[in-house]
Amino acid sequence: MGQGYSGGIENVENEKSLPTYKQRGRHNTRYDYYQNGKLKSSRITHANGIPIKSIHYSNHGNPHLHPIVPHQHSWELIDGQWKESSEWTPYSGENYER
Ligand SMILES: [Zn+2]
Repeated sequence: MGQGYSGGIENVENEKSLPTYKQRGRHNTRYDYYQNGKLKSSRITHANGIPIKSIHYSNHGNPHLHPIVPHQHSWELIDGQWKESSEWTPYSGENYER
């Protein structure tokens, strides 16, 4: 169990299964997507199951735009929908390996 996730940690089979505004997850849960055994991205949900944060463990193949790995994007209310912001900040949170 990760610290602070009362809903626990779930693995998803593909990146499209990560929770979104329309496809909500469970409350306070971290969803992890592994590709070829490597953690590629995580998404963390709020109390209502809507994502609040994405964590990316790759540079999206674009080291110029995403020089820092891992980095995080917040989810923001944009045009009435919660969406992943294109802005990012370095991620130095908990130890995400397990
Ligand atoms: Zn990113």
